[in-house]
Amino acid sequence: MKQRILILILMVSSVRLWSQDTDHNPCATSGDYPEWLAAFLANPDRPKSRSGGDIVYLPMTVHSVGKTDGTGHYPKLRIFESLCRLNEDFAPYNIQFYLKGDINIINRDIYYEHDDFGEGSRMMRTYKKPLTINTFITSEAPSNACGYWHQSEDAIVVIKNCMGGSGHTWTHEVGHWLSLPHTFSGWEGKTYDATAETPLYHSISGRDTNFVENALGKNCTKAGDRFCDTPADYLSLGWSCNGSFQSLQVQKDPFGIDFRSDGSNFMSYSIDACQSKFSDDQNEAMHAYINQSKGNYISKDIPIGKVSPDPMTFVQPEENGLVNYQGINLQWNHLPNATHYLVNISKFSFFVTIDYEFIVKGNVINIGDLPVDKKWYWRVKPYNPYDLCQGFTEAGAFTTYDITAVDEINENNHLEIYPTLIQNSQSAINIDFDFSDLLNVQIDVFSSTGQMLKRQTFANPGRSLQQLEISGLTSGIYLLKISTERGNLVKRITIQ
Ligand SMILES: [Zn+2]
Repeated sequence: MKQRILILILMVSSVRLWSQDTDHNPCATSGDYPEWLAAFLANPDRPKSRSGGDIVYLPMTVHSVGKTDGTGHYPKLRIFESLCRLNEDFAPYNIQFYLKGDINIINRDIYYEHDDFGEGSRMMRTYKKPLTINTFITSEAPSNACGYWHQSEDAIVVIKNCMGGSGHTWTHEVGHWLSLPHTFSGWEGKTYDATAETPLYHSISGRDTNFVENALGKNCTKAGDRFCDTPADYLSLGWSCNGSFQSLQVQKDPFGIDFRSDGSNFMSYSIDACQSKFSDDQNEAMHAYINQSKGNYISKDIPIGKVSPDPMTFVQPEENGLVNYQGINLQWNHLPNATHYLVNISKFSFFVTIDYEFIVKGNVINIGDLPVDKKWYWRVKPYNPYDLCQGFTEAGAFTTYDITAVDEINENNHLEIYPTLIQNSQSAINIDFDFSDLLNVQIDVFSSTGQMLKRQTFANPGRSLQQLEISGLTSGIYLLKISTERGNLVKRITIQ
């Protein structure tokens, strides 16, 4: 029995590992070996990059591509989580990315689901911004891929399904942007066949021979990705790894030596769960490429520090308060080092769906109107362009109301409130009930910011004149929420 359970667990976990990439191919970046890198690696006197140098900050512009009708956009929260992941992946190599400008919203069906590079290239040419890394988030990409780096446009596409806080597709594509080829360079578009003899080279054109890297790495400077600290790899289709992050597939080099591919490298086609690093030589090439080719991209600005991890506090509306459904204001206390806030509003306390999403530069936002008579939950995520990793606040809640002109709960039950303009000295107002049904009535008095101040109940008032106690209320506008099991009313009173 124990054994059967173990086998079941193993099966489930391997299905989970595989499920990420069964729908999409990892990458559709062309297999052309990067010219800059070829020259850099061919130079025996190439400068060695210093270890432990300063962090290089590069600008990242995100273009969110949706359908023409404006739907389909990847949620901003997920964009931030993905950028946070990208920065975690690059942190050991002293390369960091900051969000440059606002997220650029593009609504075009043909780009949202583009399946050829011509359309992708047109999209990039139309929208890309200068001196920044341009990433386009779409629904589909050519070759059913998770993403690609377009060499001549020098921009990146990642599809929504392959973004997210646990994915490494963006890291892989930025690796291409930073000059890196695939670890299986030369095998793009070819499928390794274990039953066939492995060739010594892929092709010869003029004086250039595209060699197959051998398992012992003896030809590493002129074969595969030409990095000597990334071992041979022939796997050009998405693959899963074993507990040592190596390919399940055993490959045979041209001399008949068996080896497995290293799945921990971001530039391989292993699935996300295997990937965790760049090699030292890849790191050195990326830094040299930034210095030699992208020096004018490096930000000279002093980066803003991490957003304070202190808990945030809400100012308005009051917790569980009552809020007029029109022109709703949300306000919170500013948090040190936060320059922006992402505001989510949902009908669900766990934010299963996010009904409204806003980015705010200050600590207050007027969100306009929300549907009436509903409980809404809201939360705020503070961030700055360098730190998108701080979490959300605890959720707050409020209920929307509409001040009604009618004075009836339903056709059998009416009431009249008077006066509604009240002198400060008055201690009570009249509630003239005309109820045909036996109903208990609860009246809550709310301040204009939504704070509940008083509650009074009336057991089966029927047809009677009652008094609502209001002593202690200062000048201002107040809301009376009259609740019964047959319906509710909200009325306004003003104390002068
Ligand atoms: Zn790639």
